[in-house]
Amino acid sequence: MPLPSRQIPLPPGSRIGIIGGGQLGRMTAMAAARVGYRVSVLDPDGDSPAAQVADDCIAAAYEDRDAVRDLARRSDVVTYEFENVDPGAIEAATAMAPVRPSVEVLRITQDRIKEKGALTEAGFPVAPYRAVRNPDDLQRAIGEIGTPAVLKTARMGYDGKGQAIIDSGASAESAFDKLKRPGGLILERFVPFAMELSVICARNGEGRTRTFPCTENVHENGILDLSIAPARVPENSAREAARLASAIAEELGVIGLLAVEMFLTREGGLLVNELAPRPHNSGHYTMDASRTSQFEQLVRILCNLPLGDVSMQRNAAMANLLGDVWLEAGGNPDFARALSLNSVSLHLYGKSKVRTGRKMGHLTAMASDVETARSLVLEARRIARRAS
Ligand code: AMP
Repeated sequence: MPLPSRQIPLPPGSRIGIIGGGQLGRMTAMAAARVGYRVSVLDPDGDSPAAQVADDCIAAAYEDRDAVRDLARRSDVVTYEFENVDPGAIEAATAMAPVRPSVEVLRITQDRIKEKGALTEAGFPVAPYRAVRNPDDLQRAIGEIGTPAVLKTARMGYDGKGQAIIDSGASAESAFDKLKRPGGLILERFVPFAMELSVICARNGEGRTRTFPCTENVHENGILDLSIAPARVPENSAREAARLASAIAEELGVIGLLAVEMFLTREGGLLVNELAPRPHNSGHYTMDASRTSQFEQLVRILCNLPLGDVSMQRNAAMANLLGDVWLEAGGNPDFARALSLNSVSLHLYGKSKVRTGRKMGHLTAMASDVETARSLVLEARRIARRAS
């Protein structure tokens, strides 16, 4: 793809419009404020995590095209912090302000069938999969792919929601009935991975890319629990993971961030699992441990500033704080004691309603080696779990 011409930086005081008011929008807004930009957020909740720190908020549904147009009209550039946004609304915004990443990137990454299709067509490695529209497709797919396999909704799935493991043809029927959606399903071969990895690639409007260090991820019940950076993998695996992430960002023409989740197989190969065209939970450690955070990097790209240095100042581990921690503590967790550990930092997202599995915040620990950082962050979370 030819490199676009040099982009002119947006002056300080310019406005970034963010569709979605969750924690990713909140941390992007905080990074934007640090370098002197204004932020408007669109979210149905007028007191969303991002609205709490933004300059203003349009309280409207994501699919409200008039509201999305209004956001774009008042913004110099628009981005979105999750993939389940109506592409029609994004198209409406594109007429008023540049939207990054583009609506084409959104259309691919919000649909697992399109995403896997685009990756396969371009020659990137993915686990064998089949699109599934009806029970006959499913039985055929099981015959071709074998079991165990994972059945997933093609759209609107996140944090392991909308997924079921299929062990046999018999278990397939009930899984199909439970998951079936108008957008279809996808059946993937179950990968008995050695490790899950992710790489966040930043690509700017001039086509330059920088990848954050490869991160090692541990999921619990389909939700990210722990990230360790850099990943404890051989140098050539980390290099190949970074190469894949850059090549995919280039192939899709992403302007912004692209998080690429991968499986490291027991044989040492890499398979791409999922793409996210936005900041990613596995990159939260960059706020504390890297010279440039993933959020500042996105702001730099949106505002046509040079890409920042992605090197790490210290090794890091990040542990998510789900609503479960509050429920176990029987109230507010003991963050004061957790923060008495050196090199541990706390990030809370300003969510008042506690629910099992809800991402309420995270802890980061830094150390000269990843093992110490990992033990430290787990210890901090264990302490926090005890009632204050
Ligand atoms: P996803 O929403 O596709 O990222 O899936 C959430 C989590 O489920 C992943 O991070 C894995 O831990 C697990 N998972 C998803 N797909 C597969 C697969 N094909 N094989 C093994 N584990 C999987």
